[in-house]
Amino acid sequence: MGHVDHGKTSLTRALTGKWTDTHSEELKRGISIRLGYADAEIRYCQPCDKYTTEEKCPACGKETELKRRVSFLDAPGHETLMTTVISASSIMDGAVLLIAANEDCPQPQTVEHLMVLDMLGIQNIVVVQTKIDLVSKDDAKAHYEKIKEFLKGSVAEGAPIVPVVANYKINIGEVSRAVEENIPTPERDPDASPLLYVSRSFDINKPGMDVSSMKGGVVGGSLLRGKFSPGDRIEFLPGIDREGKPPKPVTTEISSLMCEGGKLEEAHPGGLIAVGTKLDPSITKGDSLIGCAVGAPGSLPPVLGELDIEYTSLKRTEFENPPPKPGEPVVISAQTSTTVGVVSGYKKGKASIKLKKPVAVEKGSTVALSRRTGQRWRLCGWGKVR
Ligand code: ZN
Repeated sequence: MGHVDHGKTSLTRALTGKWTDTHSEELKRGISIRLGYADAEIRYCQPCDKYTTEEKCPACGKETELKRRVSFLDAPGHETLMTTVISASSIMDGAVLLIAANEDCPQPQTVEHLMVLDMLGIQNIVVVQTKIDLVSKDDAKAHYEKIKEFLKGSVAEGAPIVPVVANYKINIGEVSRAVEENIPTPERDPDASPLLYVSRSFDINKPGMDVSSMKGGVVGGSLLRGKFSPGDRIEFLPGIDREGKPPKPVTTEISSLMCEGGKLEEAHPGGLIAVGTKLDPSITKGDSLIGCAVGAPGSLPPVLGELDIEYTSLKRTEFENPPPKPGEPVVISAQTSTTVGVVSGYKKGKASIKLKKPVAVEKGSTVALSRRTGQRWRLCGWGKVR
């Protein structure tokens, strides 16, 4: 997270070693761009006690040890980023907050980002002070102290602050170290029933392709829990959209699993996967299944046409933000789905929203609400599904 222009793209590029744009594989590229994913490797050279993104240690040239694979989630624009962070908080293990040294700290967007992390209770945070090459040494130090001051009393108080020059890859290894040491991989229950929310869905076949070589529909997303293997039966909820009618659940089988590194025999939470299915690709093409919950048939969250939530208003710096009013149109972002709705009731922090398109969400999951302010939809608050 970070203010626009504070160097998220450059840092991601430095951490991933490569940039998502350069991936030739269209399938993977499509998913990465959509949700702004970038996969990175955290590697370590024990003799040098150095972290790096390289397979060979830049200091001694020896083979480095792969500590961990991580996926960074980014989203274009300030509103979209905050909305994504709230609605996808269930797949996030921590946050990297960027603050540029060449601007006063804090910038308004940085305040809002930290507030969102605070409200969601995301405690595993690494702060990165970027662009220190654009200021003098003394100014960089003074700015560092300002960051410390700004973090005081927040969820990020005491978080490591790593100064970097992303464009020249200076101190990037220390960001990897801070991530490795401060954002641990959470314990996962391997026996939990699997749940994935679709963030992309498409048809990988080319026009004019021979029928015998055609592949089934593909969906992309991250497992929240459990595991997937080829051959597993899966269900999609709410399912296929039908103009004017309730969506139709669809059941199929997993035919293949892929991640950045290639084919998978078993997929686990953490990072983005592509799930090949036996569905007719015309069902999955054009992102038509975005927002669907996927898992074992009969085990998925309920499909809800009306959401009751415990609502919390966000303090926005740029506009007035009173509680939602009954009758007010809102946009709801829940997991990977975005749908319009109308506030059907509001009383003492409890809001009910009638949705135009139903969503399959669990009790206790976090949703983001946006309201119309002038010509734009602005994030106004968030809530837990009751
Ligand atoms: Zn080394």
